[in-house]
This record gives sequence, structure tokens and C-alpha cells, in this order.
Amino acid sequence: MMGYSVFCFLWDGVLVDSGFLHAWDALRHFLKGKRVDVLLHTHAHEDHAGNSAAIIRTKGADAPAPGILAEALAHPERDHYRWFRTMTWGAPPEPCLARIMDGDVVSVGNRRFRYVPTPGHCPAHHVVFEETTRTMFTGDLYLAPVVRFASRHEDLGRTIASLRKAAALEPEIMFDSHLGALDDPIRRLNERADNMEAVQDRVLELDAQGLEPREITRLVLGNENHLSWITRGDFKKQNVVWSFLKGKGGV
Ligand SMILES: [Zn+2]
Repeated sequence: MMGYSVFCFLWDGVLVDSGFLHAWDALRHFLKGKRVDVLLHTHAHEDHAGNSAAIIRTKGADAPAPGILAEALAHPERDHYRWFRTMTWGAPPEPCLARIMDGDVVSVGNRRFRYVPTPGHCPAHHVVFEETTRTMFTGDLYLAPVVRFASRHEDLGRTIASLRKAAALEPEIMFDSHLGALDDPIRRLNERADNMEAVQDRVLELDAQGLEPREITRLVLGNENHLSWITRGDFKKQNVVWSFLKGKGGV
């Protein structure tokens, strides 16, 4: 509705993420006659877990998840769920009762899906790494080569560390939740981390010179656009600056 799209990925009975509520009819149609034995998640945001409860119910899927992620899936965000989120994705998702895993690997046939913690975008964010084919499902870890916006709750310092961690696993192909399949993942993940570090350095340099966050934002990232207004500041350029300033303990 707002021009955003979200991928979920079906691979021999394994579904990674379940999309958003407004897309349920399309997803249900796509899955008709197909098996979903296992449902994995990159994180619990409504555009990634919006149909999870329905898929577990209708397909009888097993939904294993590490404890922190299972907890987030069981308690969908309802506070601060503003109108633009309902308009874009649909109502907050139903609670999804994932099975809490003992360990971090889900074996399906001869494939091994490893949950790798990659916090920053949100505390429970994970990439799902299929080790035998070096295939990585990166959720909202990557998204773009350069950082321009952030949501109010992101911790971009942790995102940089998570990007490096994902690259160090040496994936051969990655599936981004909003861009789809991307080649050359090691270079891409490191490129994004390099860019974020450069932005962080510039932000801290200007802060040390005594500039205000609003002015730092304008100099480093340019003027805010309509996203800031539509989301009432939940998603805007200045959140990038705030996140880096919080990281140094200065805000
Ligand atoms: Zn997200």
C-alpha cells in the first residue's frame, strides 16, 4: 500500500518469515498445495511475522526459535503501534507461540539452518544461515549499501558489529527481506558496515565540535523528508545521529 514489499522465502518445506497481515490472501494462495513443515524467523516485526500464527494453525508448521526471539514472537508490539503501521502492514500480528530451541541449529533433511544473533535493528534480530550451501537469510540486517534513516529504537553500533559478524561467516548468497536475492554478500555486508562507521565518525566529530543533533543530521545526511512526518519521527534521519550519540554515552 505504501510501496514497500517484503519477501518471505520457501525452500523445500522451510519458510523463512511470514510477511505482513495485509499480504495474507496472496501468501495463502501461493502456499496452496505446498508444504510448510518448518517456519523460521529473522525477527518479530509485523512485516516478518504477521502471518506466523495463521501458518502454524493452517499448515501445522513447527516454528523453532531461540528464546529471545520466541519471546518477541509471543508478545507482538502493541504500544506505539501507530496508524501508519496499521495502514502499511495491517494490525499487529497475533501472538505466535514458537517452540523454544535447545541450541541454535535446526536440521531439516541434510540442511542445517543456524540462528545467528545479529542485534541492532531490534534486540531479537537473527540471520538464518544454512551452512551446507552457505545461504544466508539476513532479514533487516542489510537493507541498503548506505544508512540514511533509522527507526527510533535501533542501536546502530550493534548493527555494525552484526554486519561484521554475518560477513565473517562467509555466506555465498544472501536473501534480504526487502531486496530479495543478492550476490557478493561478504562485500555488501562489509560495505554497509564501512559506511555506517564513516557516518558514526563524522557524527562524533561534529558532536565534539559542539553542534546540535539537528544540525549534525543536516550536514551528514541531508534534510528530513516525508518519512519523518508520516511516521511522526519513528523513522527519520535524526534517529541515525541519536543512535550514534547514545552509543558514546553522550545523550
Ligand atoms: Zn524489521
